[in-house]
Amino acid sequence: MPEKIVVDVNNEYVSVGEAARTYGVVVDPVTHAADIDATNEKRAEIRAHRLKNASAGTKAPKVELNGAKEIFDWGGSLQLVEIGSGERFWKCGGCDHVLGESTHDWKSYAARGDAPMSNGQPVKFASKTKEFGLREFYCPECAELLEVLNLNRNEADVETFRYLGQ
Ligand SMILES: [Zn+2]
Repeated sequence: MPEKIVVDVNNEYVSVGEAARTYGVVVDPVTHAADIDATNEKRAEIRAHRLKNASAGTKAPKVELNGAKEIFDWGGSLQLVEIGSGERFWKCGGCDHVLGESTHDWKSYAARGDAPMSNGQPVKFASKTKEFGLREFYCPECAELLEVLNLNRNEADVETFRYLGQ
């Protein structure tokens, strides 16, 4: 992942400052190489900051996931798994924290925080609007970023998807 951000910095889609602030990737401004130690430190700092400023979701049920079978993987950060009883649950791909039953909107169990639109746009095109913004959903345990919605702050949250099939 740091390598992808370095490519974006070289292509000027992302500035050195944006790479650190948004992606937690610390890039040397002269050589454009990623500093791995500084990146790990920056990412830990971002995760701590996310949870400190987020509002907590509903506490998810405790479920034993030992031997659970993966049904669906959404970009490595959110996964749907099936346990021995046949019940399916959402879980964080980063730490295996359970995010509720498959039939529920997992976002209700996630921590959420608001961010300005400019956090999600290339610096060249960053919008300064206050009406629209980003709503970020994190794992309440490890602060992994699970989803980012771009929305009108005056409207209710949208449910991105829900698992209906068996
Ligand atoms: Zn997690």
